[in-house]
Amino acid sequence: MSKIVGIDLGTTNSLVATVDSGIPYVIADAEGRRLTPSVVHVGGLGVEPVVGHKANRVRAVRPLETVYSVKRFMGRRGSDIPREEMLVTYPVRGDGAGPVEIDLHGCAWTPEEVSAEVLKKLKADAERALGGPVTRAVITVPAYFNDAQRQATVRAGELAGLTVERIVNEPTAAALAYGLDKLKDQSKIAVYDLGGGTFDLSVLELNKGVFQVLSTHGNTRLGGDDLDTRIVAFLAGKIREAGGPELLDTAETRVLQPETLPMLSRIREAAEEAKIRLSTDESVDIALPFLTSGFSFSLKFSRAELEALTRDILMRTRAHCLRALSDAKLEAKALDQVILVGGQTRMPLVRMLVGEWFACSEFEETRGDLRLGESYHAASGPVLNTGVNPDEAVAIGAAIQAEILSGGMKHLLLLDVTPLSLGLETFGGLMNVIIPRNTTIPVKAGEVFTTALDHQRSMMIHVLQGERERAQDNWSLGRFELEFERAPKGVPRVGVQFEIDANGILHALARDIRTGQQKIMDMKSAVDVSDADVQKMIEESVENAFDDLNARQWIEAKLKAGETLMATRKGMSEHAGELEPAYRQRVESALRVVEAALETEDSRSKIGDTPRLKAASQELDEATLQLADLMMDRAMEEMLRKQGLIQ
Ligand code: ADP
Ligand code: MG
Repeated sequence: MSKIVGIDLGTTNSLVATVDSGIPYVIADAEGRRLTPSVVHVGGLGVEPVVGHKANRVRAVRPLETVYSVKRFMGRRGSDIPREEMLVTYPVRGDGAGPVEIDLHGCAWTPEEVSAEVLKKLKADAERALGGPVTRAVITVPAYFNDAQRQATVRAGELAGLTVERIVNEPTAAALAYGLDKLKDQSKIAVYDLGGGTFDLSVLELNKGVFQVLSTHGNTRLGGDDLDTRIVAFLAGKIREAGGPELLDTAETRVLQPETLPMLSRIREAAEEAKIRLSTDESVDIALPFLTSGFSFSLKFSRAELEALTRDILMRTRAHCLRALSDAKLEAKALDQVILVGGQTRMPLVRMLVGEWFACSEFEETRGDLRLGESYHAASGPVLNTGVNPDEAVAIGAAIQAEILSGGMKHLLLLDVTPLSLGLETFGGLMNVIIPRNTTIPVKAGEVFTTALDHQRSMMIHVLQGERERAQDNWSLGRFELEFERAPKGVPRVGVQFEIDANGILHALARDIRTGQQKIMDMKSAVDVSDADVQKMIEESVENAFDDLNARQWIEAKLKAGETLMATRKGMSEHAGELEPAYRQRVESALRVVEAALETEDSRSKIGDTPRLKAASQELDEATLQLADLMMDRAMEEMLRKQGLIQ
């Protein structure tokens, strides 16, 4: 059986890793490089795509046919993507409810197909290094990826010829790489991940060797690229001052002429290189010889200058950290560790700021320099742990998870939790939760439902995600109908089961219990859920908790009142002759009081006077006791007569 590899399919860079004799490591490609840019260049129709460094090199000169950052589009519908996210140099289509498509030489590619090219390259690298076929993988995704995005990732793997054994959350993988599964139970960890184009902060908790994501918050358009852009603008200004070409407008944001694109791409490369070197050096010489035939440029650039230039961008990550902490209901000092992930966190200023924000007591990386007995550990904040290569941590963690799945490291089982509740719409438009938010997955849960109307021939299974009481306020994941034989209300029995597999993908099943006939829902049309949306949903549920509760109580009271009304009217018309006029009047007036209470429903909020309705219903219940007894007696007699026990 093929070895399972671990893959970090990143927005900017992708890596493949494995475990050999208990030691995890990132697999290098034929040129000895361990990071593969997630960039795919398609030179023409039917031309074999070029992937990674080679594709990255032609990106600037072939912008229309070179795809980068495609992870942003995975599993998302065109209509759900904000316009500014569509601003890439290659042609992306996706306006309707359909998936995003990328047009390359008249051929439509899906984001999965593009990602599959990156995965194929990693697969080939792994096969060369391991000397045999590689057909199984663990792939990581951001913690906030929803069902559709996770499924798209699984499909990308399949297209590349890989069986995706498990999808793992990136922060969970990183924590695993840091060996944090060996911390004591209940330990809390923050994972600060600043990559090329995305930022997120996740708070995890360790429980019996299992990591749970308590919260996650971030920005999918904030990362190292923004620092590069800032440096490019700075350099463009310096070049202009030195009498060189005009590259950007005076605000340093817009490209003036398309001809300058190759020049700007050289500058961007130099900018990123300088930024990276300044993570270890105090200053660098930026040299751009023969930018134009008669102009060469050079500049001394210091770490202090870089920090002054980009500090505000890094400061923008702080609010997300605070939000994630407050979502997890934690203070920074309650954390045991803060770990850094993503290439950009190699920048010393990032480490310093994060250490400051989280009031870290100890810098693991500088521990070696501290003399024993120094009072540096005095404060009680979390440890800022930077022991693992930040751009490799996620891939290493994926490899460890792969090893666990292969039976190599049995001590640890990886589980995550559902970010939002899953349920279905029931009669009256209420949300019926089947799997509550924060349930550890994988999980299987179900409930049996019946019909609310006579002669119903089918039941609509409307799958919902969210925290609100009313179906309409939650997100619709999809709906399907289960047919059964016509029967009086309450007779058909429909079992509904939700299963969230280890990859976080939901399978909804509905079964007619009498016939065993069943349907399973296809989740492809899942509504996108970004981390921001999850947050918004939770906030709204808190804000509207009171109204929602009122709405639920009203709807429930209304349904119950409706049933009593119907049953009472039926009984009254069937047994009119057997009832005293005075009693009939009492019931009639109780009926009218209930009807009047029902009319208090507000046409806009759809909520009425619940206490009044409940009181009226109770009155009616009491008034109909005698009628109910009578009906019961008659029903009993009917039954005995049918069985031939009485005449
Ligand atoms: P992603 O997770 O988005 O695929 P990575 O974790 O690979 O991205 O991070 C890529 C970013 O990290 C780029 O912006 C790159 O310039 C930056 N980066 C890589 N190494 C360093 C370094 N030594 N110092 C500063 N930034 C770095
Ligand atoms: Mg990453």
